[in-house]
Amino acid sequence: MAILRKSDPPDIQWGRCPACAEILPETKVLKGHHVCPSCGYHYPMGLTERMSLLLDAGSFEPQDASLVTTDVLRFKGARRYKNQLTAARKATGSAESVCAGEGRLEGRAVAAAFVDGDFLEGSLGCVAMERLRGVFRRAESGRMPAVVVTGGGRLRHAEGVVGMSQLPVLAEARDRLRRSGGLFLSVIVAPLPTGAACTFAFSGDVNLAEPGVADPELARSAGDGHGHGDGDGDVRVTGGDALLATGLVDRIVKRADLKAELSRLMGHLA
Ligand SMILES: [Zn+2]
Repeated sequence: MAILRKSDPPDIQWGRCPACAEILPETKVLKGHHVCPSCGYHYPMGLTERMSLLLDAGSFEPQDASLVTTDVLRFKGARRYKNQLTAARKATGSAESVCAGEGRLEGRAVAAAFVDGDFLEGSLGCVAMERLRGVFRRAESGRMPAVVVTGGGRLRHAEGVVGMSQLPVLAEARDRLRRSGGLFLSVIVAPLPTGAACTFAFSGDVNLAEPGVADPELARSAGDGHGHGDGDGDVRVTGGDALLATGLVDRIVKRADLKAELSRLMGHLA
């Protein structure tokens, strides 16, 4: 257990790990890919950091960025959809829940997309799914592997049947890539993909998941200070066994090893 000392500089932020309850300096967690150095709990990771983790520095070129979501149905729920979008864009700095484009992964060109769980819980509307479709299309035409990182991904209710109509279109693009012999590597991160995201997140030629992604109890307790776990220094693959047992996921991979694992798979399969 880390001990708070009077001599610690006052500008260091401390926090309690939601898994093992250890009190840790924020800097130590951030430097370790947002992973608890004590128990291996994988903290949520933002979009920019996720890109930096997996893609070669400066290689990412966004595609379909000009596609912008509008409130075509003028949806009024607890909050107006238009206002939800404005707030999400302000909070994340992104225009949509999916950021798609092309980049390099250990020198190899890839078509890549990141479903951002911080943007309206990673929910998918028309534009988000069109951007994902673009990744599969570019992977097919450019004969590149497709790498999609997904957290969240339920159907965005505010787009109703209009958004739902994009699901078969997205599934068809994924199928076309498969029929062409292309490679799709799916990386599943918290929050566990549900709903619309299930049409593609679990349909990779290889599906990888980060440790703890399927642990709803841990997901709920994250950030509330009520931790659990033995803190024995091993990675806790909580919930991952269930994903492996059902065949939804092929391997649980620690965040620090993800890039090397993706590169290794592309070397064997692409
Ligand atoms: Zn921990």
